[in-house]
Parts: sequence; C-alpha cells; structure tokens
Amino acid sequence: MPTLLKAMFFAGSLAAGSWLGLGKPTVEEGRTLVAQAKASADAQAQANATARAEAKARVDGDRPADLAPLPQLADPSNFPSPRPWPELNPDASLTKAWMVAEGPKYAPGNGRRLITLTFDDGPFPETTPAVLRVLATHKVHAAFFVIGRYLDGDEPRAVASRETLQKVVAAGHLVGNHTHDHAKLTGITHTQVLEQIDQGAASIERATGKRPILFRPPFGELDDFGRAAVRERGLDLLLWSVEKSDMKRGDSHEMFRELVGQVEYKEGGIVLMHDIRWTSISALKELLGWLHDHRWDAKHPARIGYEIVDLPTYLREVAAAPLPYASRDELEKERQKR
Ligand SMILES: [Zn+2]
Repeated sequence: MPTLLKAMFFAGSLAAGSWLGLGKPTVEEGRTLVAQAKASADAQAQANATARAEAKARVDGDRPADLAPLPQLADPSNFPSPRPWPELNPDASLTKAWMVAEGPKYAPGNGRRLITLTFDDGPFPETTPAVLRVLATHKVHAAFFVIGRYLDGDEPRAVASRETLQKVVAAGHLVGNHTHDHAKLTGITHTQVLEQIDQGAASIERATGKRPILFRPPFGELDDFGRAAVRERGLDLLLWSVEKSDMKRGDSHEMFRELVGQVEYKEGGIVLMHDIRWTSISALKELLGWLHDHRWDAKHPARIGYEIVDLPTYLREVAAAPLPYASRDELEKERQKR
C-alpha cells in the first residue's frame, strides 16, 4: 500500500485532512482526490497572488481598473463655508502650527486647562465606531484626520469605510484631510503635494458631502513646497502637542499613564491618537475617565482642572490668548524653569 499512503499523505497535506476521516479510499480514488486537492490549492494560490497584486497596486497608488472614475467635483479652490474659528496660521508655518497646538496662554488665577482630541489614519470600520461610542459616552466632540484612499471604490471595505465616516460626521465630529495615501509630503514635487491634498479632499467630499478645511500632514512633516500647497488651498494646518506613540504600543494602561503625564506637564493640549488600534481605544477610555475625575470645577475656578472642548473652541481660545513664544523650544525653556 505505499502508493495509497503517499496519496493520503499528499492529499492530507494539501486538503488539510478534509477527506481522511471518510473511510479508506481506493488507490484510484486517492489519486483523484490528490489531483482535486492540488487543483484547489493551485486555484487558491492564484487567487492569493491576484489579491496581493491588487493590494500592492492600491498601496502603490495606482487606481485598479474596477474603481469608478472620480466624479466631477467643485473646483478645489472653492472652499467650504467660513471656518468657525479665526485663521491662526495663514502662512502654513510649521513652527506656528506647533505653537498653536500647545494651546492658549492661561491668565493667573485661571485653573481651567483645555484638552481637545484628534484621531488619525482612519476610518476603520472595525475600530472607529468603538471610538465614537467612547466619545458619545463622555459627550465629547473630536476631529478625525482621515486617509482618502480608504474611502474610494465599490469594495465592501471601502463602502463600510464611507459609512463609518458618515457616522463620524453625523455624531458631530470634525473631519480633516490626512492626504489621499498617507504620503510623506517632503521630498516630492509641489504638484504631487497638491495631488495628495486634492485627491484626499475629493474622497472625503464624496463620502460626506463636505470638503475639509483642516489638514494634517502625515508625520507632521512639510517642506516649502508643501507649505505653499497648503496655503494655495487655504487649509488650516493642524498639528498636536500630546501624543505617546500609540501606534507602536502594546500596553494600553502604560500608554494612558504616559498620556496623563504629558497632559499634566503641558497643562492640556491637542491629543493625537489613532482610531485604528484597540490598545489606543483602551487607553482613550482610561484617559477620558481620568479627565472626568480631574475636570475643572467652576465653583473653584483657580484650582487646576481639565475641560475637554471641541477643536473650534480650542482654536478660538488660542486666537484670543496666544502663547507669547516664537517657538516650542522657547516655550519648553520656560517650562523647564518652573
Ligand atoms: Zn497619520
């Protein structure tokens, strides 16, 4: 019986034991089954290769042929309704944007410290709705900087991503542009930066009906071409001041503790997290619980406490009382003296 044993071995390894429990096959049946299993494995390998090629094409930025062409959209120089906060950084200066993120200058005797939340790199149909539930529990409005490419096309995941983003908007959160492909914007041409901005904006506008006015460059990096592109599109450059590498972390409680350390040291700020990881969501839950326990109390206005505000409120307060430092480095020197 060596041939049959061989056939059983091969078929068993290919078909993962799917027939071995059905009784002893004849040699001929064994050969047929081996052939069938091999054909099935070949078909699966072919399907996997096709899926990999499609995924690679997507990552590389080529639009697969099955995606619908971009519909006609408004001219990108047509901006949405006036921003609900004063324009803080018309030159799209990174130095200025980092300073804005640090928050307003607090008057002596004022213990109210502002926090606003931002989430990058979604939407993810799996995790973003969980973030929305956590935010709803605490009645908090945040800003989501999304990747346009996730919203394109007719595949189930793209459809689910658009529906997820619509839920973000329906819940009253702001949506900002985080480029079309999460491209690093330094070292590319001015035209390429504009493409990343415009395609990202178009994807968001198709999904939500609104063209975003907020822009956050991936990795917080922008060179002179990028700054010119952001200026040309009249976008508000928005960075952050509190973040603890949540994309790389495995221990959500440790991440939460470090975020609290940053919040206390910086006396509030713009928090950056990612709505695409469960560990970030766990840390977010703990952070919101802590902020609730340490909230500002109007009955004791001089006692330091935190108030979570939406981004427009945060930016209006920064406009009303900007920090008197030219850069984050200057501010940091002042903090070191405390
Ligand atoms: Zn990002």
